[in-house]
Amino acid sequence: SLELNDVALGYQGMSVIEGVNFTLQEGKIGCLLGPSGCGKSTLLRAIAGFEPLMQGSIKLSGVQIADTTVQLAPEKRQIGMVFQDIALFPHLSIGDNIGFGLRHWSKAARRERIAHLLKVVGLEGYEGRYPQSLSGGQQQRIALARAIAPKPKLLLMDEPFSGLDAKLRETLVPEIRQILLQEQVSALLVSHDQAEAFAMADIVAVLASGEVQQIGTPYAIYHEPATRFVASFIGQGD
Ligand code: ATP
Ligand code: MG
Repeated sequence: SLELNDVALGYQGMSVIEGVNFTLQEGKIGCLLGPSGCGKSTLLRAIAGFEPLMQGSIKLSGVQIADTTVQLAPEKRQIGMVFQDIALFPHLSIGDNIGFGLRHWSKAARRERIAHLLKVVGLEGYEGRYPQSLSGGQQQRIALARAIAPKPKLLLMDEPFSGLDAKLRETLVPEIRQILLQEQVSALLVSHDQAEAFAMADIVAVLASGEVQQIGTPYAIYHEPATRFVASFIGQGD
């Protein structure tokens, strides 16, 4: 599980995230939902290991990976990442993109893992192609396959669908949820879009100005918004 315990951080001594508590159980999909500028990406970068904490601690699978004195290096956290700008390696084949984090695996194991993931994302036989010959949605699926290939303890996704058109997003979001559940990947998504958050996540934390407004299932947040902010942000409010 991922545990954020009273986490605060920011830039130049100014806090952007203030006292956030959030727990994501093993195998679940969580979402940090909130308006632009509320600090979602900042918090995600801290979990990934790219920002130091000003307060609190972060635990992953029972191990303290960050507090105010300890900051485990990103590559040692066993965390995978998918971002909005897909950024597959353009000079590497699809197979080599997926296998990028598996260079220390045996050749046979790597090949098997790549084939398995191509099947999982519905792109069997694509290993020899290059990123520029794939559609945006296909590239995003490959980015997902690459991120989960080394079996990370946690997958972080920062607005992974926002570069895609609405129609594609509608089909891709539930598809990716199914892939994550099937592959038993714990994942934390960042989004400003409630429909996307609700379609993707088991548990949602609504953020406003760096503070958690409410944590709950999509159902609870929709039907029982805890604050005026949540009610109006979710579109049920006055
Ligand atoms: P969006 O939905 O637009 O991506 P966000 O919720 O991800 O927004 P952040 O990118 O975390 O928001 O930014 C939160 C606040 O921190 C903003 O006020 C932003 O200006 C500030 N900020 C972000 N990155 C930096 C930085 N590198 N240096 C200084 N301030 C920053
Ligand atoms: Mg952001």
